[in-house]
Amino acid sequence: MAKLHHLGFPRIGSKRQLKFALEKFWSGSLSQAELQQTASKLRLDNWSSQQALGFDFHTVGDFSLYDQVLDSSVLLGNLPKRALQSDNQLDNYFRVARGRSQKKSCCASVHAHNNKNDGETDAGEMTKWFNTNYHYIVPEFDQQTTFNLNSENLLAQIKELQGINNNVKPVIIGPVTYLWLGKEKDQSNKLALLPALLVTYQKLLHELRENGIEWVQIDEPILTLEIDKSWQDAISLTYKTLAQLDIKLLLTTYFGELKDNLNLACQLPVAGLHIDAINAKHEVAQVLALLGEDKVLSLGVINGCNIWKTDLNASLRWLTPIHEQLQDRLWLAPSSSLLHVPVDLNNEQTLDSEVKNWLAFAIQKLDELSLLGHALNTNIESVFEQLTENKLAIESRKNSARIHNPTVKKAVANITPHLGKRQQHFNLRKTRQKTHLNLPAFPTTTIGSFPQTNEIRATRKAKRLGEINAHQYQQEMQKSIKYCIEEQHNIGLDVLVHGEAERNDMVEYFGELLEGFVFTQFAWVQSYGSRCVKPPILFGDVSRPDAMTVAWAKYAQSLTDKKVKGMLTGPVTILNWSFVRDDQPLKTTCNQIALAIREEVLDLEKAGIDIIQIDEAALREKLPLHRSKWNEYLAWAIEAFRISANGVADKTQIHTHMCYSEFNDIIEAIASMDADVITIETSRSDMQLLEVFEAFNYPNAIGPGVYDIHSPNTPNVQQMVSLMHKAAQHIPSEHLWINPDCGLKTRQWHEVKPALINMVKAAKQLRAS
Ligand code: GLN
Ligand code: ZN
Repeated sequence: MAKLHHLGFPRIGSKRQLKFALEKFWSGSLSQAELQQTASKLRLDNWSSQQALGFDFHTVGDFSLYDQVLDSSVLLGNLPKRALQSDNQLDNYFRVARGRSQKKSCCASVHAHNNKNDGETDAGEMTKWFNTNYHYIVPEFDQQTTFNLNSENLLAQIKELQGINNNVKPVIIGPVTYLWLGKEKDQSNKLALLPALLVTYQKLLHELRENGIEWVQIDEPILTLEIDKSWQDAISLTYKTLAQLDIKLLLTTYFGELKDNLNLACQLPVAGLHIDAINAKHEVAQVLALLGEDKVLSLGVINGCNIWKTDLNASLRWLTPIHEQLQDRLWLAPSSSLLHVPVDLNNEQTLDSEVKNWLAFAIQKLDELSLLGHALNTNIESVFEQLTENKLAIESRKNSARIHNPTVKKAVANITPHLGKRQQHFNLRKTRQKTHLNLPAFPTTTIGSFPQTNEIRATRKAKRLGEINAHQYQQEMQKSIKYCIEEQHNIGLDVLVHGEAERNDMVEYFGELLEGFVFTQFAWVQSYGSRCVKPPILFGDVSRPDAMTVAWAKYAQSLTDKKVKGMLTGPVTILNWSFVRDDQPLKTTCNQIALAIREEVLDLEKAGIDIIQIDEAALREKLPLHRSKWNEYLAWAIEAFRISANGVADKTQIHTHMCYSEFNDIIEAIASMDADVITIETSRSDMQLLEVFEAFNYPNAIGPGVYDIHSPNTPNVQQMVSLMHKAAQHIPSEHLWINPDCGLKTRQWHEVKPALINMVKAAKQLRAS
């Protein structure tokens, strides 16, 4: 009998109940007890929705009020000292999570997260969880770090679940992954903390055993990364040490292949191993050959990171011989925690029914797993009907005319390297653009969006609800554009933008106008803490029925003699911030988007827009976990950008924007995008980023963001001037632009105006010197 379990379930609730409870709690309108009640109810709801599935193990420890890595820091007694300001553990917890606990309202973006608020503490740093869009709070280590088991919360949740189920399986982060994820705050070496950490894990496992636990899921996803020998040795030592305890460990790896760590993983003295049989399916045969006869093999056979139905009949064909070989040593699960998918497809009332039939969210994925279990353990006939239904859905998706657009396929097949190349080298384009655009030295511009006022939001909402017609909508939007252009004139900026009033989101706006996307009502996934995102679903061949931004840009340009910069989102960012079809290579899908954006770029150019910005805010996000695969990814991602951008005449100036400063390891790829101007985040990293330009001669123009738009403060003229002086040490001054570090949509006009006025003053000072 194959056994069934899962590695973790989403905790935000199918209608984002956790988010709303947290925000009420933080604003002071919900008590701590009420927050805990909501949390407990969410856990019980999750567990009871899983009750009927007949799983063999019931997972606990996957719930978190903010982040599971931060929970581990609490469990191990490793919260940063600066946060330990009260006897109330939860206050301290939220202080690390977001810089403050109750009563003061929360900041809304990843960037804003680290802003210090008077009297409060610095929040813990936040960073991406492997290759997902989830962000965790980075554990901190220093020479004073000690560990101290604090298992109260976990034990309470175990008791809660034991009240309704036997065979409770707690999930914890493995000690080596915990260390790997953390950051040394001084000269200390985090690996040296392992022995002390293991003592705490031994205590923890002992306590779990005392509480009736037989199996513990221990996550070591770093086994899917390139780790050096010292980290491999740490893994060996850890599991040798923990093997001495009388408790069974299921060591889980996910998000990728084991590669160089495969032997190591198979030889560890643990009771079971979980591998990602979606991303590392081809390694299963090797694992079967190497894994000891006494060990359990858990196969992650349902994709834990996408939203597509599994081809269950194909899975069964593949699994049947493995099941015959392993019998009850075979466990089945989703490939990873289901944290990265929305909760329940059944909530979707307005989703296109054809597309809906191709999808599975967390609850549906567990149903799929249960079905696989039935088919293997009892007999296929008993689930014949469901399997047939699944087969029909899979076939309908494969053959749907909605997915396949022959014109698009042909266009992608006809892509040649020529499409991605500008006519002339940057040095020649530069001179042409100089005469054509007639810009001063140190030109000033912004990143695209201006404040999204209540009025603007109300107009968009009224349009959505059909309360105003297309004409009224256009007039309202033109009013915003006009105001925005006038203000930019008053401020004295050199290159203007239309302000993006019509966009709720930089990907959604384009997704809605392109063929090949659908949108959901409730398909939220947690990005961090209470912040959730609702990515569009990219299900079919992408094409552009009509121009998407030309009318807005043209209108803006008609109002001024200065140059208006057209504003688009790039193909890689649209791809990386969507749930993407899995039936063709990502490269193909990306090229389809690139061709659509290219049409838009050329239409803008034709309409008289001489400067066009193509944002690639998310270029870095899908960098593969294995460095050995970076080049392959970067090659097609950069080529897609080039295809979208580089069809224009030499005199047309292409800008791109990226909102992060981790450039150093991909700088050559970025340079090869060949954008005439790139604008980037640098203000908070105090131009540290520019160090990379010491070693690498960045060939084109660059606008290092001098105004930190994530802060409400007005940047100081002298500070901006001195930041630019720093930049000028590495980059020829004729290549430098002056701009904020990101779009201004989350700010207020009264904040933006003085800030930009100062920015323009800084530019004038620089020109004078
Ligand atoms: N053009 C976009 C804006 O200004 C860019 C947003 C981003 O980089 N995240 O809002
Ligand atoms: Zn940005």
